Amino acid sequence: MLKPCRLNLNLLLPDVYLENICSIDIEKLKTRKNIKGIIIDLDNTLIPYGQKTLDDKTKDWIKQVKQSGLKIHIVSNSHIRKVSNIGNLLEIPYFYNCFKPFQKYILLAMEEMNTGYEETAIIGDQILTDVLGGNFARLLTILVHPLSSTDSIFTTLFNRTLERLIFSFWSKNGKIEQTKGKWPQ
Ligand SMILES: [Mg+2]
Repeated sequence: MLKPCRLNLNLLLPDVYLENICSIDIEKLKTRKNIKGIIIDLDNTLIPYGQKTLDDKTKDWIKQVKQSGLKIHIVSNSHIRKVSNIGNLLEIPYFYNCFKPFQKYILLAMEEMNTGYEETAIIGDQILTDVLGGNFARLLTILVHPLSSTDSIFTTLFNRTLERLIFSFWSKNGKIEQTKGKWPQ
């Protein structure tokens, strides 16, 4: 008899949910979590969707990452022009059109950074792409609150609608709480 198929919601659960990337204490991410490389999303994680410029806080945070010796790689589902503009501006390597949660470019970024899954964190604003992709690869998954309420039509209609349902389920079960202030403690 066939077993009923159940969606494992734990695959969608991030290790931590933060206000934004600046809530991440880079030094403690290295020393307490043993992270050596960061895979980072672009839209609504590094820049608000639809905007082309980065704010100074984000630029400073990227500078801190580089100074700390951590490797960093953009892995984005967005198109080449947008991703290459920001990647070149920040002088960090990038992949575009990645189709997260598929693994291909997440694994390629780890290969380029020369980091193992237990030494790599993925940061993004979407459960169904960044967190799911990161959990498939067994990375440390960091969900951040989206930088703007605007998204692509597909994300707005499909991903964000599903996310709202998932969040309401989690909040009833006390599964997820937004961490305010610096993390890790
Ligand atoms: Mg995003």
